[in-house]
Amino acid sequence: MSKILIIEDEESIAELEKDYLELSGFEVETERRGDTGLVRAMQDDTDLVILDLMLPGADGFEICRRIREKKDIPVIMVSAKKDDIDKIRGLGLGADDYMTKPFSPSELVARVKAHLARYERLIHSNVKENDILEIRGIKIDRTARRVWVNGEERSFTTKEFDLLAFLAQNPNHVFTKEELFREIWDMESIGDIATVTVHIKKIREKIEFDTSKPQYIETIWGVGYRFKV
Ligand code: CA
Repeated sequence: MSKILIIEDEESIAELEKDYLELSGFEVETERRGDTGLVRAMQDDTDLVILDLMLPGADGFEICRRIREKKDIPVIMVSAKKDDIDKIRGLGLGADDYMTKPFSPSELVARVKAHLARYERLIHSNVKENDILEIRGIKIDRTARRVWVNGEERSFTTKEFDLLAFLAQNPNHVFTKEELFREIWDMESIGDIATVTVHIKKIREKIEFDTSKPQYIETIWGVGYRFKV
């Protein structure tokens, strides 16, 4: 259940908003002062704030700005004066919506629902799944940079991981040592292509059952290596 915080010093308005929101199934908290309201707004369980502009303790401008610095939750600002609403918009404080008093409580409920649904969608679209390659018993998580061989995690150095992930994401493609060196070490290294051979050996020790008969990284004599699928 979403928790709504109403920061409003006019008791009758706060009560009316609270009643309508509770009837719609929301959990509602009210605060009469700006300063205590801000403290409450910063708590983890607050999902949306309905914020009056003129308040004792700290005004709505200040509260909205402070919430925006720390939290990504919808803020609906309300004011008795149309002029104030225009001013708030002009300031670009980052409120999600503005309502002029008096407004219909059902209109407020509708907007609360719409903003919560929009944030919900945003949160879900930001959660990206890890980029994982799975090839015959090897699982390579390119997001977390972790590797499992038959379910058992193996640790890799940065370059070993980069080299393995590069080969595995281009399966059956034969790369020369020069190409691999350029791809993985780029210009940052003063090493030579023998480095590639050394790293391939290290990777094989971690992923191959028998390094003399590699099942994953195959040597193509006179050319280079490929990840066999
Ligand atoms: Ca007020």
